[in-house]
Amino acid sequence: MAFNDIIGHERQKRFLTYLLERGNIPHAFLLCGQEGIGKRKTALEFARRLFCLKKTGCGECRACVKLDRGSHPDLVIIEREGSIGIDNSRMIAKEVSEHPFESDKRVIIIDNAETMTMEAANALLKTLEEPPPYNHFFIITSSEREIPMTIRSRCSRIAFSPLAREQLETYFMTDGDQHQARLLSSISFGSIGCGIFWQDEDNFSLREKLAAAVCGKDKSFVALSSLAERASATDHSVTMYLTFLLSFFRDIFVRKTTGEMSFVTNADLEDLLGDAASDLPWIEGSMKRIQETMRIMRYNVNRWLVFENLLIHVARD
Ligand SMILES: [Zn+2]
Repeated sequence: MAFNDIIGHERQKRFLTYLLERGNIPHAFLLCGQEGIGKRKTALEFARRLFCLKKTGCGECRACVKLDRGSHPDLVIIEREGSIGIDNSRMIAKEVSEHPFESDKRVIIIDNAETMTMEAANALLKTLEEPPPYNHFFIITSSEREIPMTIRSRCSRIAFSPLAREQLETYFMTDGDQHQARLLSSISFGSIGCGIFWQDEDNFSLREKLAAAVCGKDKSFVALSSLAERASATDHSVTMYLTFLLSFFRDIFVRKTTGEMSFVTNADLEDLLGDAASDLPWIEGSMKRIQETMRIMRYNVNRWLVFENLLIHVARD
């Protein structure tokens, strides 16, 4: 992995490379932009170049090898397991007060930082206010507005834009299936991570089953409940399937109002889209419900029950 292997984000990579070369690196960055587009990869690559004994991210020196194995003692990664709590912030505060072990710098990556509790955010803020000189923070989020302003204002902000369709298509053209690459680039909304999720056959087939279910192909409670159970298996899968459902209803709306297929995201589901002899109140009501469900899912709820409740309400008669 090198900056060159990260697709797109040329401006962002140039900026970070410039900072590395100049050696005057801000103590905190805020990397924001939707999930799965390479923010964390970029932060990791930055750490690699910083720690690399040749300062190139050679991939061969002791520091690079350790970093690639995930065992470099000066790289601290905090990520979501439910939410980032006060214990995490205390651990960071303790860690940063000590001198790095092997490098002369330390990198702290806080991924999904929007899940920080208020208590954790306040404790982190204290650390950011008086950071020991050899620490560099990467605060990563797909939901910037949920990061307290007090923290944001102490970071150099680097925004990541969704990738272009063509960039994704090139990325997914691995086995020469252009039709598949084009579809993946369309349904992944600028995110490689999202496309990789849909490359998985089980995920892709559940997507089709959900579409069929909301179009009223099988409205039995047992069927809907079982779909909901699978779709809600993890936080990540919930986000993916809810985003899909929203785009699917948007497609039904577009198909109904314009009669066109060329504006549609989920082109492979054409049969279902046309087939949904859909009335506007159903479409609009369903979209509202999906958005509401997305909001509720951020709280500590029973994902399966909430998803099941959604399907029962949006599945057409
Ligand atoms: Zn190296």
